[in-house]
Amino acid sequence: AKNEGKGSYRFFESAMDAEAQERRRIEIDLHDALAKGELELYFQPLFTLSQNRVTAFEALMRWNHPTRGLVPPVNFIPLAEDTGLIIPIGEWAIREACRIAAQWPEHIRVAVNISPIQFRSPALNGIILNALAESQLAPNRLELEITESLFIENVEATLASLHNLRGLGVRVALDDFGTGYSSLSYLRAFPFDKIKIDRSFIVDLLAHDGATAIIKSITTLAEALGMETTAEGVENIDQLDILRDQGCNQIQGYYFSKPLPLGEVNKLLLGLGED
Ligand code: C2E
Ligand code: CA
Ligand code: CA
Ligand code: CA
Repeated sequence: AKNEGKGSYRFFESAMDAEAQERRRIEIDLHDALAKGELELYFQPLFTLSQNRVTAFEALMRWNHPTRGLVPPVNFIPLAEDTGLIIPIGEWAIREACRIAAQWPEHIRVAVNISPIQFRSPALNGIILNALAESQLAPNRLELEITESLFIENVEATLASLHNLRGLGVRVALDDFGTGYSSLSYLRAFPFDKIKIDRSFIVDLLAHDGATAIIKSITTLAEALGMETTAEGVENIDQLDILRDQGCNQIQGYYFSKPLPLGEVNKLLLGLGED
């Protein structure tokens, strides 16, 4: 048994080495990905129930790796965050999203995910100002999605940054609401335009009676605070019906559409007669 243990330890160790090497290879590739034009934004529509139409797209990053194929963000965003590459990559995403959205009909916004590392960077305001200036996109057509993890750190600094960003005229959404350190008191203190209700609550809708009550309390609270609500990860009409009944404003998820490459977005906009 002792030998077995040692053997599996060695196996484990070499597996770790392989993993570390793999990580290092991806890191080196990622460093060049931006310059080589391998990064691409996909866009997922956000459907506003009261208007019965698409009013925004969320930009979701993809990496077209020459040998690995289309790499999802879960396999490179954390690495980008650990290495600091998220700053140039994130800047590229903001500029690209603004450039593309400026071509869309005026009632359509673009939402961009902002990593906590970017949010804490003093360069962020300037990056956003530049992106708006070079694209000529109206600031209120850009929505930044930030996550709750920012609030356990430095509340004062987070609040100041939020006010700065909103001073530029851009909108700010709280992403993945309910998964992290959400304290309801933060909601009152922080000036969000929108709350994005995490997919885990939507999945629960058909499984637990209590889930509907949770949605109801979130939408009621949001409305009282003057914030909109978007439900993430809506996959079927039963979920959609409940969300509508409970006063949710906006729907995002595979039920309506998966994230699409830009070519498909443009077709969708033409098809909707929104060109
Ligand atoms: P997120 O911001 O919560 O984005 C929503 C994720 O849910 C996306 O995954 C989307 O494809 C997926 N999704 C949408 N509808 C459904 C549905 O109906 N069912 C299911 N099962 N999934 C759905 P994706 O594109 O893989 O992105 C994962 C995460 O990577 C994002 O989560 C976001 O945190 C991060 N990310 C993506 N692009 C960027 C970026 O440009 N910058 C930064 N900092 N993070 C990004
Ligand atoms: Ca998001
Ligand atoms: Ca989310
Ligand atoms: Ca998420």
